[in-house]
Amino acid sequence: MREYKLFINGEWVESGMSETFDDLNPATLEIIGKIHKASDEDIKAAADSAQDAFDSWSGTPAPRRAKILFRAARMLEERKEELARLMTVEMGKVLEESRGDVQEAIDIAYYAAGEGRRLLGETTPSELPDKFAMTVRRPIGVVGLITPWNFPMAIPAWKTMPALISGNTLVLKPASDTPVMVIELVKILAEAGLPKGVLNLVMGEGSTVGSAIVHNKKIRAISFTGSLATGKWILGEAAKDMKKVSLELGGKNPIIVMDDADLNLALDGVLWGAFGTTGQRCTAASRVIVHEKIMPLFQEKLIERTRKLRLGSGLDENTDVGPVINSSQLEKIAKYVEIGKDECADLVLGGNTAKPLPGYFFEPTIFTEVTPEMRIAREEIFGPVLSLLSAGSLDEAIQIANSVEYGLSSSIYTENIKNAFKAIEKIEAGITYINASTIGAEIHLPFGGVKSTGNGTREAGTTAIEEFTEIKTVYIDYSGKLQRAQIDIE
Ligand code: NAP
Repeated sequence: MREYKLFINGEWVESGMSETFDDLNPATLEIIGKIHKASDEDIKAAADSAQDAFDSWSGTPAPRRAKILFRAARMLEERKEELARLMTVEMGKVLEESRGDVQEAIDIAYYAAGEGRRLLGETTPSELPDKFAMTVRRPIGVVGLITPWNFPMAIPAWKTMPALISGNTLVLKPASDTPVMVIELVKILAEAGLPKGVLNLVMGEGSTVGSAIVHNKKIRAISFTGSLATGKWILGEAAKDMKKVSLELGGKNPIIVMDDADLNLALDGVLWGAFGTTGQRCTAASRVIVHEKIMPLFQEKLIERTRKLRLGSGLDENTDVGPVINSSQLEKIAKYVEIGKDECADLVLGGNTAKPLPGYFFEPTIFTEVTPEMRIAREEIFGPVLSLLSAGSLDEAIQIANSVEYGLSSSIYTENIKNAFKAIEKIEAGITYINASTIGAEIHLPFGGVKSTGNGTREAGTTAIEEFTEIKTVYIDYSGKLQRAQIDIE
């Protein structure tokens, strides 16, 4: 059985407490490997080595740091197919989507490397003569990165690449369900020439390893993607040490389908948004708010098309919907189906676990007659369960869309430009798509949400650099005399 070790100070090392945990294929339940579990001492060593590496790495010109990222991007590109297959084995998503996940890592690596020749500050006139004013970007220091399992390579790369180009050194903890993809990413970065100590990898459960990262005094910032509950806890704990925190949390993303929509286009978008990645995307469409005039037809066509989705191994090119990640996720989905039935929503399709293979499969599931106050319409299920809600007008649809605590992605299908702009203006979300599904973020645009989806930060795009840098304001007075701002004015 293959063993995967921790990466600390440039070396692959065994767990300090000699413990491992199993990494499972969620479709077959076969064990992929034994993962070394970090001890408290391992996490301390990881943070210490990141601290030791900081001076040299932050002092390396950013264009030179970029060369390593460019090399890593090319290596990811060369190994794309092999990595995508490994991802499907480890996480379950269908191969085509795994390829997309690796592609995101490639894209962000190139994009962040390009930032090596920008990392822009600003210059602006001073209010006083013979005085120069500007801002420069500085790295934060040692940063802790904690990532989820649903984008096993894209999300770790979304954090690692911008954090590195900005000059930070890192302690990275992947989700315990998908560590191998992150191990591969770290291997590539090390092979691309990353100096020792700059990137350290520790594996193990969130409640111990993740918590130790959050509490380590040498770690000055935490970048976290995961559930609302964990994010809230991290925010509270990190505040005690005044750490900078960025949170990318859950969603309950709506698609509004107006009576003037192109129905087939909307159906394509709803199927992709609700059942792509087996509904396990933070941007998954879990609510569809349909104009009441077209509800009967829309519902009929949606059920007909969803019924045709094939469950199975993500490696099989005929599979549309892969397994869910683990047994507790499967139980959570089944529990929500029961909640939906108890709330008197109408279960019109699916609702059961399935067994095309020994792993964790759940049928694509649709509830109709759902009302906004039901739990299935408000809480994140993170599985292939879709709720259909009805609205009599755009205003009502937007009101329903905004009635949840999350605000990540959103979408409207309409052929009417006024409806589209009203939706852009009024929907409370970090992302709004017009005539496209709720999923499909591109790496050169900011990504994140409002309300309980986060704490105001955005990943990717130019905002990725903001997440991982501090701004220093610089004044250079070359007048040779004391000049007092706000006082020595004419
Ligand atoms: P999770 O349970 O919060 O776990 C996320 C990460 O945090 C994992 O690495 C986990 O470790 C770790 N963790 C758990 N408890 C911790 C603690 N007390 N201290 C520090 N770290 C801790 O979330 P998940 O179930 O993996 O991911 C699904 C959630 O992520 C959904 O809510 C989804 O919407 C959200 N998500 C959001 C975005 C976004 O960008 N907005 C993107 C993707 C996913 P273990 O794996 O060892 O438990």
